[in-house]
Amino acid sequence: MGLEIESAEGPFIYTKDGKRYVDFISGIAVSSLGHRHPAVTKAVKKQVDRHLHVMVYGEFIQDPQSNYAHLLTSQLPENLDRVYFVNSGTEANEGALKLAKKFTGRHKFVAFRNGYHGDTQGSLSVTGRDVYRDPYLPLLPDVHFLEFNSNEELDTIDEKTAAVIMEPIQGEGGIIPADKKWLREIRERCNNAGTLLIFDEIQTGFYRTGSLFAFQDYDVVPDILCLAKAMAGGMPLGAFVSSSEIFDVFRHDPPLNHVTTFGGHPVSCAAAHATLSELLKGNYASRAGRIETTVRKVLQAEGIVEIRGKGAMLGMELENKDMTRKVVSDCLEKGIILGWTLHSDTLVRLAPPLIIETKLLKDTLEDILDSVKKFS
Ligand code: PMP
Repeated sequence: MGLEIESAEGPFIYTKDGKRYVDFISGIAVSSLGHRHPAVTKAVKKQVDRHLHVMVYGEFIQDPQSNYAHLLTSQLPENLDRVYFVNSGTEANEGALKLAKKFTGRHKFVAFRNGYHGDTQGSLSVTGRDVYRDPYLPLLPDVHFLEFNSNEELDTIDEKTAAVIMEPIQGEGGIIPADKKWLREIRERCNNAGTLLIFDEIQTGFYRTGSLFAFQDYDVVPDILCLAKAMAGGMPLGAFVSSSEIFDVFRHDPPLNHVTTFGGHPVSCAAAHATLSELLKGNYASRAGRIETTVRKVLQAEGIVEIRGKGAMLGMELENKDMTRKVVSDCLEKGIILGWTLHSDTLVRLAPPLIIETKLLKDTLEDILDSVKKFS
């Protein structure tokens, strides 16, 4: 039986039967700011009282969109100065793949084994796990999967390649950070081949890994940046961000080449603006760092193979699947929500909201540690 949610606030979820749970994965799907951050709910209510949505094809401006686009791009390098809003992560990647095809006039893509980019057909085509792809073949025709963090086969990135799409830290693949040198090598190869580099930061974005965006840590700037998940503090929103030069191909031949009805919903954009404003005000980079340090310090025991990841995007690799399943359900009984990653069954996902107080963080980690000890 699933939990019947009654309400949620900050790091907590409350169920209909009156139980309180610490949401230790909300940081990924909902918000770095936890549930119903006051700044976010205030912005949502204000926008609901102005207008919900107007169907526009560029002739009208909805200021929540333009205000948020300005705020977002003010935090990005010069070449990431145009934002296309969508509703979800997979739509951001769909848009990015189409944009890369039209801009380069090529249709070959390079992606990575165990990468995850979403479940619509374009995103699924570049998702690197056969069991998810096989029932839906044929997908996009010319996708080449390489080993993450390996220099072998990088020659596959050639002048026929429209784009390389990747996560700087693989999320669903089991929280695997890219090697810095390797990522720079990929950037270099893309430059040489006229290939666009797409970073899917749908999971890593918005201080999850300690920087506003993970690419800032790597000193590698993508040509297209894809965002979603924590972007709008719990409201549905996604975006792909690129340069005006690249986006120009969407403007003509034919005009209105890529449209969406609800993409960039004003209520979501208002929530996203409040989220980013709050993130920029606070000390969230150091909060993410503190979460990582505390997790690594507390979660040490027999049965824990490794703690992986960066900032508050962490995974705890346990000895086997059975133990992992037991730890997750034992914690649930104790009122702690942990999660899996899609492509790994021995990894427990740890992604608390960045607002979590130190005492609650430490107490929760001690409880998790007790469960690990119980089953190891
Ligand atoms: N890319 C990455 C890296 C993701 O983690 C996810 C969601 N797990 C997606 C894309 C898809 O996002 P959405 O579920 O919003 O379509």
